[in-house]
Amino acid sequence: MVLVVRRARIGPAERDVRIEGDRIVEVGSVRRLPGEAELDARHGEVIAGLHDHHLHLRALVAAGRSVMVGPPLVRDPAGFAVALSAAAAARPPGEWVRAVGYHESVAGDLDRKVLDGVVADRPVRVQHRSGALWVCNSAGLGALGADAVTAPGIERDDHGQPTGRLWRMDAWLAGRLGASGSDDAGAEGLAALSATAAAAGVTGWTDATPGRSDGEARTLADAVANGLVSQRLHLMVAPTTSVGVVEDLEGVAGVTAGPVKFLLDDTDLPALDDLAGWIGRAHGTARAVAVHCVTRVQLVLTIAALEVAGTVPGDRIEHGAVIPAEVLPRLAGWGLTVVTQPNFVDERGDQYLAEVSPADLPDLWRGRSLVDAGVGVAAGTDAPFGSPDPWLAVRAAVRRRTSSGKSLGAAEAVDPHVALQWWGGSASVPGRSRRIEPGAPADLVVLGAPLLAALEGDGPVPVQATVIAGEIVPPH
Ligand SMILES: [Zn+2]
Repeated sequence: MVLVVRRARIGPAERDVRIEGDRIVEVGSVRRLPGEAELDARHGEVIAGLHDHHLHLRALVAAGRSVMVGPPLVRDPAGFAVALSAAAAARPPGEWVRAVGYHESVAGDLDRKVLDGVVADRPVRVQHRSGALWVCNSAGLGALGADAVTAPGIERDDHGQPTGRLWRMDAWLAGRLGASGSDDAGAEGLAALSATAAAAGVTGWTDATPGRSDGEARTLADAVANGLVSQRLHLMVAPTTSVGVVEDLEGVAGVTAGPVKFLLDDTDLPALDDLAGWIGRAHGTARAVAVHCVTRVQLVLTIAALEVAGTVPGDRIEHGAVIPAEVLPRLAGWGLTVVTQPNFVDERGDQYLAEVSPADLPDLWRGRSLVDAGVGVAAGTDAPFGSPDPWLAVRAAVRRRTSSGKSLGAAEAVDPHVALQWWGGSASVPGRSRRIEPGAPADLVVLGAPLLAALEGDGPVPVQATVIAGEIVPPH
């Protein structure tokens, strides 16, 4: 299959791009042979396709069937009650109400009693926007059979009763809810996500879900195999994922296995030697690691562990929400990639300004200082915890403004081309942006306007066409 993209603006010049199979083979003045497909870029700027280097697909699909109960949409106890009750009333009796995006600034810390006071006649579960916590009402705990289960994540009160708070219990929840089909990554939902993402210029996804089950990984890979998902799919793996499963996943065209994901929680941090040992074991199986670091202590621990275990190409820091300046040279020297979420500057910035101590603000969601220090940077949306729209994140990296328009870390703002490069890396080398050149994968986006003009304002960025592995998606 050959595709010739005509009249494409690449940097300052207008060129044609010849694609054979899934590769770019020629850039310049290209002759199209009879029978070869053509895509007229109409002088639109052509950029490397956007790869979202950190998101959670299954949760994103589920979020589409959930009610949002956090800021800025819901801000107070009354709004919370209205949102949950309305969601309950809109569903058949007995069906779960799944709510997401909760933050304690809305109605304080939740437990089963608080939720029972709002909706008692059906199961309800509310996810904290950090992703670390689900809170169930009594009917929900009953439906899950949580009473009879002993697990450290199921919080209990002094009388041994579950409080409703389930910490880091996603895998368990998925297992419990699986039979009822209420929480699976529905194929239709994935197909819809894929189409929306392609329309925004997204050509690849890295799913960073920790502890994803093998069955779930297969479901995602199947969605690529049978064409429901057009994007390239890079799946981080769990420390326990077997070599056999990794081989199965990589046997699917368009699917690759990523680094081993480690999640850290400030309340339950591993010992340094343990973390170093886990990282060493992952490296020993020829896999890089991706360590979740949203706080200063998580980053400091991770750096100490890497000091012991050593680093390999491909090791990455997920989020890097707080990075003290003194560790920048080390991150750069080790060749680590920080996979950042500039969208949170916009989406959560007002909350940061209200809550984060001023001393920490300069370390928050660094951008420019990472680049200046020579640290590899890539970006992901962390959807559904952030908006899945990559352009919101590109704009936030450039503008450094909160959703209410306040400035946050203006010194960390980057040039639009730099902000875009963070989405231009391949799945396995996220910190180095691909170029439109012979030999590069044929993943590209034809914009409807020059990049700088396209980024102005807050409207949708015009995307004329998205090409993934040499195919126009959706087909013309
Ligand atoms: Zn995440």
